[in-house]
Amino acid sequence: MSDKVEKLVVPGEEVGTSEEWLSGEGTFEEEGNIYAAQFGKLIFDEDTLEARVEPMNPIVEVKEGDIIYGYVFMRKKAMIVIMIEKIEGVSRGVKEDVEGTLHISEVSDDYTDDLKDEFLVGDIVRAKVTQVEPTIKLSTTGKTFGVVRGYCPQCRKAMKFERKHDRLHCENCEIHSERKISSAYGMIKLKR
Ligand SMILES: [Zn+2]
Repeated sequence: MSDKVEKLVVPGEEVGTSEEWLSGEGTFEEEGNIYAAQFGKLIFDEDTLEARVEPMNPIVEVKEGDIIYGYVFMRKKAMIVIMIEKIEGVSRGVKEDVEGTLHISEVSDDYTDDLKDEFLVGDIVRAKVTQVEPTIKLSTTGKTFGVVRGYCPQCRKAMKFERKHDRLHCENCEIHSERKISSAYGMIKLKR
């Protein structure tokens, strides 16, 4: 490794000239000068002759094929927005504002008529990542995917899974609620 950390830089800070270095990741070039495009560590890579800026706390990136856990942030007519909190098998969390969308056609192997019957805002969902660029797309088709913790629409307590009826039950309010329930419902330890 011939990389050496020069210093911490802020976006827009001049880091060198294009005669000395190539403009690498996290930088941009303008009129012969190279500038930092983000906060981070400035690195001059002697092998590639690149000047680049690496983020200070590299976050875990979501990749296609990953299995993620997140909570339902917003429900629209044909899709829900899920805030991704964790990738299965990866102990470190993801950046707080990573969101993915789940389209109504990707909810279940069966036809989904109305997302209101499948998810409530706040529910914790296990989903797989089907696309990361330009936006993260998710799917909950398959038995192990879907809601792993659902909250009561009345009292907001976590609901119990009634396997026999394939629905959720609130012991507090004595009401039932439908969801796209994962076969892992109630079996996964979550921090929230
Ligand atoms: Zn309740």
